[in-house]
Amino acid sequence: MKIAYLGLGIMGRPMAANLVKAGHEVTVWNRTPKSVPGARTAATPAQAAENAEVVWICVADTDAVRRVLFGPDGVESVLRPGMTVVDSSTIAPRASRSFAERVQAKRAEFVDAPVTGSKIGAENAQLVFIAGGAEKTVAALEPLFKALGKKVIRVGENGAGESAKISRNLMAAAIFEGFAEALALSGKLGVPPEKMVELIESSMIRSGVTDYKAGFVLRGDWSANFPLRLMLKDIRLMLEAAAEEKIALPALKEIEKVYQRAVESGHADHDYAATVETVRNL
Ligand code: NAP
Repeated sequence: MKIAYLGLGIMGRPMAANLVKAGHEVTVWNRTPKSVPGARTAATPAQAAENAEVVWICVADTDAVRRVLFGPDGVESVLRPGMTVVDSSTIAPRASRSFAERVQAKRAEFVDAPVTGSKIGAENAQLVFIAGGAEKTVAALEPLFKALGKKVIRVGENGAGESAKISRNLMAAAIFEGFAEALALSGKLGVPPEKMVELIESSMIRSGVTDYKAGFVLRGDWSANFPLRLMLKDIRLMLEAAAEEKIALPALKEIEKVYQRAVESGHADHDYAATVETVRNL
């Protein structure tokens, strides 16, 4: 298949590389010029998308997706009937629905397909896709999802993928905050962190989040798998959606303060696991 891949960050670059590995004809674009072995490089999103059957996007946030799709050299100018735009960025569900409508006005298809699995999942083609869009369109993407991940969960129509993704990340942030606070308290009480991790991993509170992060935390390795600034972006998306729906998320409001403090301490580009250090020093 002819695929344009737009956004070569922590997640996008290995995803584009896996599409090349699966034998697809890939053209890449990134705001700061970057390349992927075996793929052509384009100068603009429109140029990358020109002859593509599928345009796959994975950029930082809502504004970045808007710019890539509808900016001056954006994808919109080359959309044709039959083309499919897939967005794997985590963005506001409401905005994602409006992007879908604008793409569909050109008789092209749109699927929001944010991911979970982080850097290691992207590198090992073990991502889980959380898809929102027409059943037929999602089904037609199956070979591409297979090249990039281990599972696709179609949760509903356009925007539903983003809604499920931010809600899932709410739980990731809350579980990790529990881990950080448990480490802070047990540390003060004199329990070595390796023993605390051994206990967590042996008991029913074990989770995928702590499985992934504990090794990094014990080594004090804050190199970004999921940058803290992006988890804070997601926390704000959750709070914004909750305000729109008039529900309270009291624990999340407190967690936002921790992330804000972590940014002020210089951890924005570190992994969100660095909040362990912030919580320890509150
Ligand atoms: P990242 O490494 O920070 O990469 C962000 C990408 O977005 C870069 O290619 C960046 O281009 C581009 N970008 C930022 N602002 C832009 C703009 N205004 N216009 C065009 N391009 C812009 O982030 P990532 O970890 O790959 O995450 C990408 C998306 O996936 C985010 O929505 C994130 O929340 C989501 N996600 C991440 C993870 C994870 O564990 N990392 C897991 C699941 C989902 P430059 O290179 O020019 O800066």
